[in-house]
Amino acid sequence: MTTADVVEIADHGVRALRESDPVLFDLLEREQVRQAETLALVAASSVADPSVLACAGSVLGNVTAEGYPGARFHAGSQVADEVERLAVDRAIRAFGARHANVQPHSGSNANQIVLFGLLRPGDVLMGMGLDAGGHLTHGAAPSVTGRYFTPVSYGTDASGLIDYDRMAELAEEHRPRVVVCGASSYPRFIDYARFRAVADAVGAYLVADISHVAGLIAAGLHPNPVDHAHITTTSTYKQLYGPRGGLILLGRDADTPVPGRGRTLAEVVDNAVFPYFQGTPALNSIAAKARALGMVLDPSFKDLARRVRANADVLAEAMTAAGHEVLTGGTDNHMVLLDVTPAGLTGVIAEQALESCGIVTNKNKIPGDRYGPSVTSGLRLGTNILAARGMTDDAVRRCAALVVRVLAAVRPAGTVTWYLDEAVRTEVLAEVALLCRDFPLTQIHSGRS
Ligand SMILES: *Cc1c(COP(=O)(O)O)cnc(C)c1O
Repeated sequence: MTTADVVEIADHGVRALRESDPVLFDLLEREQVRQAETLALVAASSVADPSVLACAGSVLGNVTAEGYPGARFHAGSQVADEVERLAVDRAIRAFGARHANVQPHSGSNANQIVLFGLLRPGDVLMGMGLDAGGHLTHGAAPSVTGRYFTPVSYGTDASGLIDYDRMAELAEEHRPRVVVCGASSYPRFIDYARFRAVADAVGAYLVADISHVAGLIAAGLHPNPVDHAHITTTSTYKQLYGPRGGLILLGRDADTPVPGRGRTLAEVVDNAVFPYFQGTPALNSIAAKARALGMVLDPSFKDLARRVRANADVLAEAMTAAGHEVLTGGTDNHMVLLDVTPAGLTGVIAEQALESCGIVTNKNKIPGDRYGPSVTSGLRLGTNILAARGMTDDAVRRCAALVVRVLAAVRPAGTVTWYLDEAVRTEVLAEVALLCRDFPLTQIHSGRS
């Protein structure tokens, strides 16, 4: 056989890169080492299995196949059609959906596609406010969604929980065409049925964005909105441990006709993806989504998801026990949100001091934040990657102790500058190295599909 196989191509590609472009190869190596040797508690990320990365870097990226399986605008897409059908089938099974579109290039794209597909410029769009924990694409001012639509935002009450009554009042008052639920920094379950009742009462479509909690939903550890919302969106690189990309899912409303459009909701969505918003799909990314979803469907994913949850509870308890202000008093998902101002810190100081010790987190705005997005009062922690490393409760307690240690030792000098004792840094870095060695990134995914 003269044609190189998939393994040879990948192998050759890496070797050729090392020889002919050492500058770039070196950057890839450094990033790989950084990921392996730091403790990442970034709630918005995960690590893709090497088999997912292999799909993303595969020859499927060479396929130009505008349109959908069986209805392409280019020849040569027989294999691509099968890949896309496989991804769609797995997405449907993973979430108990009736229809899935696997082509969105990202979670943000998925939201833009859905919103521009359903709304006209100027229509009222109601979503969770950015400070309250919503995402930019839910109508925030810096986003195209805040500029082309008329945004109305709901938020949280004094206890940090979504203020459902106020949200319902706002809906009555402003009559949105679309209500978005789902958040980027909200540690509690979301009452999707309540949102649907509010949407129905004002004749709005309900869009659920599950980007952060998609894995817990697929594992049955978080309420599933697919049949409550008209449309559900997600990014695929967070809790699905997949590639950069997005998904759009429809449940019981998939075949609901859309007034004045002569199409069902599923048809409106597919048309909004292509040709309205996107051109050619990224078949390599779709293959990577199929692989990640295959792993999500494997029974072993439930164990990973359970670890994500257990680790988050341990983390929240440890931070609380150490005297930190854990928003809402705990978590229902993978996320632990801290207000670091009672500790005399800002989000940016906490983030930077931790990073200098090999612990990667992110500063985050919290409800009622008095600082801007580059300073913030909050720190967001998440357990997707700790769980993927196979961390036990004890190991997570050790991680929490390191976070506590750094936050106690850092000396702020204003809102953004700080000083950390070198001896503390050296000790924490050594502990981080031990944890990363004992719970390595590579032996995490055992899923077959
Ligand atoms: C991360 C996130 C997105 C955006 O996903 P990208 O793939 O990064 O564009 C959308 N919605 C929510 C709620 C998110 O947390």
